[in-house]
Amino acid sequence: MTNGGAARQLRRVIVCIKQVPKAQELQVDPVTQTLKRVGVPSEINPPDSNALEIALQLKDLHGSEVVVLSMGPTSFDESLERAVAMGADRSVLLTDRILGGSDTVPTAYALSETIQKIGGYDLVLCGEETTDASTGHVGPGIAGHLDLPQITYISEVRISDGKVQARRTAEDGTEWWETTMPSLVTVNFGCNKPRQPSLTGKIRVKRGGVVTHWSCADVGIDPKKVGLLNSPTIVAKVDTVRLPPRAGKIFNGDAKDAVRALLESLAADGVIDL
Ligand SMILES: Cc1cc2nc3c(=O)[nH]c(=O)nc-3n(C[C@H](O)[C@H](O)[C@H](O)COP(=O)(O)OP(=O)(O)OC[C@H]3O[C@@H](n4cnc5c(N)ncnc54)[C@H](O)[C@@H]3O)c2cc1C
Repeated sequence: MTNGGAARQLRRVIVCIKQVPKAQELQVDPVTQTLKRVGVPSEINPPDSNALEIALQLKDLHGSEVVVLSMGPTSFDESLERAVAMGADRSVLLTDRILGGSDTVPTAYALSETIQKIGGYDLVLCGEETTDASTGHVGPGIAGHLDLPQITYISEVRISDGKVQARRTAEDGTEWWETTMPSLVTVNFGCNKPRQPSLTGKIRVKRGGVVTHWSCADVGIDPKKVGLLNSPTIVAKVDTVRLPPRAGKIFNGDAKDAVRALLESLAADGVIDL
């Protein structure tokens, strides 16, 4: 309780999700040396699906609204629609050609401005990092822009007495942290099993209108702060690492015998002690 008044309720949770190429489909354009994003099978960045699952569990408990937010080309609608089919209430895509080539600095700025336009939020959830650029900058960058307390690398969130409590993964175990709302947390990959889209969710998506598109002008984003030219980092060179061929060894036959033979082989190579 604060000042003897009623504890703050969890009314709106915003989940930032990025659509990424499926890990096994990652390809670099040999000419531009940037990641190919168009025409490759894509998915919701896996830790962002875990963040969405946490938001949906909080919705089940507290009745809060879940808004999913992404920044990218209109092909990202696919992931936002999936998030709505999983149970999010609505979604926003910040999409504008002038955002192209933005690195993490403009991305965090543009998402923060969009979160402010959505407004009325109590909690912002991000993934710990993406599987394509993997910097882990964007969540803390948003918290910095919005001046929000943040808890990173979390695997569980509870709302108690108007406060956010989160289990944080540390090097030697886990720790519980507590902070006020509004706040931001970044979510560990694999900390839960994201639910599948429901039939009613899919019908909602089929009816259309579940993704709202905003341009930079709609949000009031300063064009001088986004895009390739306003991104302080550059990709100087991309190299393809060629792994040396490996012989491989297959252990056939009865599963128990095969596992025993595998363990003995690893022990013989000094990899494990039996
Ligand atoms: C040096 C460098 C140069 C780059 N150049 C280009 C380029 O030329 N063209 C290009 O298209 N990309 C480029 N990128 C990629 C671009 O910077 C990233 O896509 C973007 O800044 C997000 O960074 P990230 O993927 O590392 O996110 P992280 O910081 O690893 O993401 C953490 C979390 O933030 C949220 N998040 C991140 N991005 C989004 C998003 N777009 N929408 C919603 N939520 C999000 C998610 O919750 C995510 O789990 C470049 C990246 C780097 C490092």
